[in-house]
Amino acid sequence: MWMGVDDLRIEWNGGVRIEYKDAKVVLDSKRSSIEDSVFFVSHGHFDHSAAFRIKNAKKYSSKETLEIVSNFFSIKNSFSLSLKEKTTIGEVEVIPHNSGHVLGSFEYEVRAPEGIILYTGDFNTEKTKTMKPAEPVQCDVLIVEATFGSPSFVFPKVDEIGEDMAEWAGRVLKRGRIPLFRADPLGNAQEIICIFNECDIPVIAHPRVALMNMVYERHGFRLRYIDEQSSEAEEIKRHGGFIYVAPKNIKISDAGFEDALVSGWALWSRRRGFPLSDHADFHRIIRFVEECDPKIVLTCHGGRFNETLARYIEQKMHIKAYPIDLIPTKFRKEKP
Ligand SMILES: [Zn+2]
Ligand SMILES: [Zn+2]
Repeated sequence: MWMGVDDLRIEWNGGVRIEYKDAKVVLDSKRSSIEDSVFFVSHGHFDHSAAFRIKNAKKYSSKETLEIVSNFFSIKNSFSLSLKEKTTIGEVEVIPHNSGHVLGSFEYEVRAPEGIILYTGDFNTEKTKTMKPAEPVQCDVLIVEATFGSPSFVFPKVDEIGEDMAEWAGRVLKRGRIPLFRADPLGNAQEIICIFNECDIPVIAHPRVALMNMVYERHGFRLRYIDEQSSEAEEIKRHGGFIYVAPKNIKISDAGFEDALVSGWALWSRRRGFPLSDHADFHRIIRFVEECDPKIVLTCHGGRFNETLARYIEQKMHIKAYPIDLIPTKFRKEKP
């Protein structure tokens, strides 16, 4: 519950659930059973797009996200939204903004008569090779993702990471081996391809990466890569001198490869890696909170960092903050 207003409820219920009178909106549901609500999906990563499994429910996302998930789900009863396009549900309005995370990723502004709520989904405030920065929105309640919500997460500049990757790949190629970048097929994979397109090193893309590349290309991105399943790939593989981009968990037994993880988690990994991330790091999250200037912050998607981030915001920024799944029930009485 929030702000002593009986009609407006915000809770964590397998996703972010916002209720105002008869309007029930669920953002990034992880469940597939709540059928009395309207679902909004922030982006195509699997941990955010489970609502597409609910066949009969009404679902909204960007056009790009719909195209991405149509590779995996039926998109019956799904509707696409453009940036800033308003959807009205009862007395509530939902408005998407760019979240800067991956192709088609949205934040959602939810406007109820008692105030404005902003849900970030996954977000990134840095300009990258494929994305514009997330847009801050002035709000009363900010529901912010806390994936990297601990002060120990500080990412270097995107360009510096790109230079490091290119340098490492150059050294591996000189040794006559193949640099293998393991990354999320949606988001980081396309960033890697852009980095190596700039230094003119051929890229072979795993089929799961190529599948996502095609959606980017349909939306105007120029990516130069060779689909691993093509005959051209066979030819290039015989000669070497390329990099390979593949999903993180794929098993590769070929001894000719040298592996590197591309993810914000590379900061904490003992494996070789590069902390190129499509999420905001700690300081960028804090700056975003300042820019949105909320009265209350609710943290989500961060596991134990939900608590770390909420405590920091409360102690250092003097804004009321809670992990969204731990909103206290006596919250209403605390209102001045
Ligand atoms: Zn994501
Ligand atoms: Zn996520």
